[in-house]
Amino acid sequence: MNTAFATNFVYIISSVLFAFGLKFLGSPVTARRGNILSSIGMLLAVLATLFNGHIISFQWIAIGIIIGGSLGALVAFKAAMTQMPEMIALLHGCGAMASVFVDWTAYQVHGTTDLTNAITLYLSIVIGGLTVTGSGIAWGKLSENIPGKPIVFTGQKWLNTALIASIVILGVLFIMHPARYDLFLMILGLSLVFGVFIVIPIGGADMPVVISVLNSYSGIVACTTGFVIHNTLLIVVGSLVGANGMILSIIMCKAMNRSIGNVIFGAFGSVVKKAGGDEKKEAKAMSVEDAFLIIENAKSVVFIPGYGMAVAQAQHAVRELSEFLEKNGCDVKYAIHPVAGRMPGHMNVLLAEANIPYDQLLEMDAINPLMDTVDVAIIIGANDVVNPASRHDKSSPIYGMPIINADKAKTVFVLKRSMATGFAGIENELFYYENTRMIFGDAKQTIQALVAEFKSSQH
Ligand code: NDP
Repeated sequence: MNTAFATNFVYIISSVLFAFGLKFLGSPVTARRGNILSSIGMLLAVLATLFNGHIISFQWIAIGIIIGGSLGALVAFKAAMTQMPEMIALLHGCGAMASVFVDWTAYQVHGTTDLTNAITLYLSIVIGGLTVTGSGIAWGKLSENIPGKPIVFTGQKWLNTALIASIVILGVLFIMHPARYDLFLMILGLSLVFGVFIVIPIGGADMPVVISVLNSYSGIVACTTGFVIHNTLLIVVGSLVGANGMILSIIMCKAMNRSIGNVIFGAFGSVVKKAGGDEKKEAKAMSVEDAFLIIENAKSVVFIPGYGMAVAQAQHAVRELSEFLEKNGCDVKYAIHPVAGRMPGHMNVLLAEANIPYDQLLEMDAINPLMDTVDVAIIIGANDVVNPASRHDKSSPIYGMPIINADKAKTVFVLKRSMATGFAGIENELFYYENTRMIFGDAKQTIQALVAEFKSSQH
């Protein structure tokens, strides 16, 4: 068996492992298995590459693995759960940077072999370049090293148009004269600049969608790099990542009832809109003691977590409360909205961290038909994802966004610190409904106080 055949054979096994790994990542129950399968696939791919006989310097590879591995391990150990989105942004940037370096080296060593090679090389450095800096800016915004609000200035659209036009014109020239290194460098430089300008006007809260789009780009770059260096594994894996990232971006946008174009080019969250016109309405507040009396008698409770639960880190207290409720004979469920929080799966990750059984977590479509049978809906720091205006108020920015129908429950408790708006910057009419009671305060403290009530009632 020759080496090339053996390498390709291992690549096929790796690709299959990646495909199954991704499939298993689709459910929290099998996600760990998915991670292990993908890791084995990656290990096999790296080993096959190292054994294929074309390695020029094992020393440099070893140095790279030591530096990259230690940095990666350090960052992974240090990063808190709430820093996950920015960490992911950084990792996509690194992936794209690696692809750009491979393209660059391939170009310097071999030049371009034919027209297809020149085109894929061009696409690779453009998408790779803008992904590197775009991810860097996304990281900066999420970690608040750069202001999260949209950075806009006059002439921005013209500048972007000029950048795109230059990248296209230089691209045509490069494809016609692929030996011109100056063109290569100019295209790469402009793509890096473009990555900055395309992400700075986007608000910090929209960054998760941007990251998902950049994730997709980093896959596409790996794929085009695979074409540049004729590596089948990179082509397969790059396409998998590219397609997955794109599907995820579309799912997130659908769940927000927005288009990708609107996320990337629209400034969202800048308008503060009053709920239901100018009529004077009063939200009714309730004390923890009174709330306890209601949930103590409830036969079914649904928790609806949102971004505020992540801020308060209330998930462990929530599990404690649900255990008391269950001991009390109450049926407990969790309603998960696809964009609750600030990243896909945000709530699932937090609830899993608190060891809440997966079978109690119900997706929006599964819980909504049951909502009118629920005694108490406890909203923990969620706002936009339970705003009924999305069902009927055509003038609302979130009109059409699917929500968890919390308002259908017999009683609704809203746990938040104030009457402040959520991410969309709009008031929530649910807070003024007859069956709604506001329990003001930090979500963790409120839940802990409810737990304390249960404890003292048992003595
Ligand atoms: P929202 O951002 O609508 O609301 C969060 C609420 O949490 C606020 O009203 C805030 O009110 C409250 N809060 C903050 N801190 C605390 C605390 N310590 N204790 C109690 N409450 C707290 O969150 P949702 O989860 O309902 O909605 C998510 C939004 O983010 C949607 O608009 C979605 O489109 C958007 N989004 C989501 C993405 C994702 O991937 N998940 C990606 C991009 C955007 P107060 O200050 O009064 O306490």
